[in-house]
Amino acid sequence: MAKPTIKELLTTAPQEQTVEVLGWVRNRRGSKQVAFITVNDGSTIHNIQVVVDLNQISEEQLKEVHTGASVRVLGKLVPSQGSGQAVEVQAQEVEVLGPADPEKYPLQPKKHSLEFVRENAHLRARTATFGAVFRVRHHVSYAIHKFFHEEGFFYVHSPIITASDAEGAGAMFRVTTLDLKNPPLTQEGEVNFKEDFFERPTNLTVSGQLEAELMALGLGRVYTFGPTFRAENSNTTRHLAEFWMIEPEAAFYDIHDNMDLAERFVKYVIRHVLEHCADDLAFLEKRLLDEEKSKKESERSPMPLIEKLNFVVENAFERLSYTEAIELLLQSKPQKKNQFQFPVSWGIDLQAEHERYLVEKHFKKPVILTDYPKEIKAFYMKQNDDGKTVRAMDVLFPGIGEIIGGSQREEDYDKLKRRMEEVGISTEEMWWYLDTRRFGSVPHSGFGLGLERFVQFITGMGNIRDVIPFPRTPGNAEF
Ligand code: ATP
Ligand code: MN
Repeated sequence: MAKPTIKELLTTAPQEQTVEVLGWVRNRRGSKQVAFITVNDGSTIHNIQVVVDLNQISEEQLKEVHTGASVRVLGKLVPSQGSGQAVEVQAQEVEVLGPADPEKYPLQPKKHSLEFVRENAHLRARTATFGAVFRVRHHVSYAIHKFFHEEGFFYVHSPIITASDAEGAGAMFRVTTLDLKNPPLTQEGEVNFKEDFFERPTNLTVSGQLEAELMALGLGRVYTFGPTFRAENSNTTRHLAEFWMIEPEAAFYDIHDNMDLAERFVKYVIRHVLEHCADDLAFLEKRLLDEEKSKKESERSPMPLIEKLNFVVENAFERLSYTEAIELLLQSKPQKKNQFQFPVSWGIDLQAEHERYLVEKHFKKPVILTDYPKEIKAFYMKQNDDGKTVRAMDVLFPGIGEIIGGSQREEDYDKLKRRMEEVGISTEEMWWYLDTRRFGSVPHSGFGLGLERFVQFITGMGNIRDVIPFPRTPGNAEF
């Protein structure tokens, strides 16, 4: 039989049966007669309480029981005397597996700043906050696979190393085995990538979309779920250099099917987390309330975390065009009072402040914007008849801004080729992409969701570095 986790022990009927508790000490308190040790093993936000009668187990045997030490306890599972938990363990044996010197262990039981804990990312899985965040992240990932599987989408694996730099989604990391001190040169004195591993320049992928399109135009409905890399030097609370993206792509889907899919998808995953992570969400909600106590009223979240998640699940997302959004922004109070830092006019790329106004002030719910000016969107998006806009869609969320970016794709060979030439993308190098429009082309659509931004929204964590185990950002690749 599998060893029971603390999560399981906490819901087992107490009948004085002998149980084994394995975990890390969160805290220890007590008196001369009795010691109370709280132990956590990561399976749940809740700790199990171990009660040690000091007449039976000597203080000497407990001398290494400090916060952070790992322990094995044998004892009887009994109804708890104290409030707050149903069961506790009356210790018969306490064994310290790995001590943690209280003078040196960094994560003592007191309030630490998130920055401090981040610097100790190798140990932060042992804290209540990060335990909750990473359990939620697991459930989000699981629900994503479950959703697509149930909708008939196949999970495809797009390559991590790519030679195409056409996506233009962001700056890229070069992948090379050339000797950087002494690279082979061409006659013109440039680095000669013909002598590199792949005989051409290669990079870490910024998106799996183009490959997902190739697969969708045969398998029908597919999605990728993998790491993507952007060498963008933006030190924000919403950008990572390495993040996980989910990119569904569906043949015969138009932009409306695509918006419906995105909305169903987001709601399904949030509903799953509400159902399966109630205790972690309750903890995270309280954490957020505590954190926001020191903030000005106007900067606090308008709703507690769980209410916000239910609100998203229960309400239809607002859908409007980019052009309508610009009109709203031009009529808005901050515009009239000159409060926007970036000026508003048709054609601009919306800034976070504009998106936040629409989502948080005007509509007060998630918004899907469509039909953006073609100049600010990628070459592969389907061109509208007006000659100015493309069938793009961005899903904007409160507190986060853009969480999903997607579009219906241009399926017309001539239009796509012309657009590539206009923006200077090599149609020769992208022959394989154009081929899908030469043979059996069909309307198709897809989008990309950044996993970490989604987990931020669900957990209420303000900094994207706190929802991925080992964040990669400019100047940071420790652990
Ligand atoms: P932004 O304008 O916020 O930088 P983007 O337009 O570059 O986003 P897309 O290229 O459309 O984003 O990528 C799809 C999704 O991937 C975004 O909606 C977002 O959720 C996520 N994403 C993009 N860049 C990052 C990043 N650097 N770190 C984490 N998530 C990201
Ligand atoms: Mn970006």
